[in-house]
Amino acid sequence: MSQTMSAVRLHAPEDLRLDTVPVPVPGHGEVLVKVWRSGICGTDLHITKGNFPAPNLPLILGHEFSGVITEVGEGVDSLSSGAHVVVDINIACGHCYFCRRGQKLFCPQVEQLGVHRAGGLAEYVAVPASNVYELPSSLSLDDAAYVEPLACAIHGQDRIGVQSGDRVLIIGGGPMGLAHIALAKLSGAAAVIVSEPDASRRRLAGAMGADILIDPFETPLDERIAELTDGIGPDVVIEAVGGIPTYESAVAVVRRGGRILAYGAAPQTATMSLRPFDIYSKELTIVGSYAGTYDTWPRAIALLAEGRFTPSTIVDSIRPLSEAVDAIRALATDRSTVKVHIQMP
Ligand SMILES: [Zn+2]
Ligand SMILES: [Zn+2]
Repeated sequence: MSQTMSAVRLHAPEDLRLDTVPVPVPGHGEVLVKVWRSGICGTDLHITKGNFPAPNLPLILGHEFSGVITEVGEGVDSLSSGAHVVVDINIACGHCYFCRRGQKLFCPQVEQLGVHRAGGLAEYVAVPASNVYELPSSLSLDDAAYVEPLACAIHGQDRIGVQSGDRVLIIGGGPMGLAHIALAKLSGAAAVIVSEPDASRRRLAGAMGADILIDPFETPLDERIAELTDGIGPDVVIEAVGGIPTYESAVAVVRRGGRILAYGAAPQTATMSLRPFDIYSKELTIVGSYAGTYDTWPRAIALLAEGRFTPSTIVDSIRPLSEAVDAIRALATDRSTVKVHIQMP
């Protein structure tokens, strides 16, 4: 008789359930992790709505989690039961064109935990040992559940390369926009400006260190940015919403010669209008950032372990697994909560 566990599973678009399923058995090269905390992310809503490709249904969601190893599969000698861990969710083949160039996110066979195969919105998850990072004792399992989103934000910052003295505009004060505030400050930004219509999120942006807060529904963003930057525009714009109007604003307000980070996940089929003349005449640099992997994980662990970054400012709701399905659905409408962590039983 196999043991069972609770897990949040997507059966079809919009059909998300809390199911009872067998506890997975770790295969060769895998370990079994008893999940401690699991973050809920906007991507979970995109997947649930069918706006983000998730080909293998039914799927256990959850790609931001911390936990404790309870079982070690055959062929694993680098890890043992009881270790506190996080897991890089990106599992790739290791020998294709992209993997051999250090770009496993583009591996044709890449599988992400919680997107392509069973993730951590469950009591247990089986994962490849090679993707596991053991935590230093100074990093709690509570905070470690934030390693994955922080690794993603670090990758975005690497891609855009905020430099000392840059003026940075972050569009969107959601969980990822808030992370970008702290990272831009650490990189030496001269000013971090945040555009966010929700008052409570603006307050959190202030708590994360934003210097200037803009309500774009009160004053149009382009007017306010022109005032603040003497008509020049910010050096860097980070779009952390995934909306078409906000992407169009990013192009409109960035300074000539400036850089735009496409960080927010827009719906897969959405299109924006973009004049090539603007890219040409403003000499724009537009870079994308999809996910964090490789060294962004140990770097995220180090930032958290050394107390340079405190997720508890962003994580404003901690709920039991029984409320996870509702918490994901609520992402569509409820802006009063920024970041939900699910605490496992
Ligand atoms: Zn996420
Ligand atoms: Zn590959």
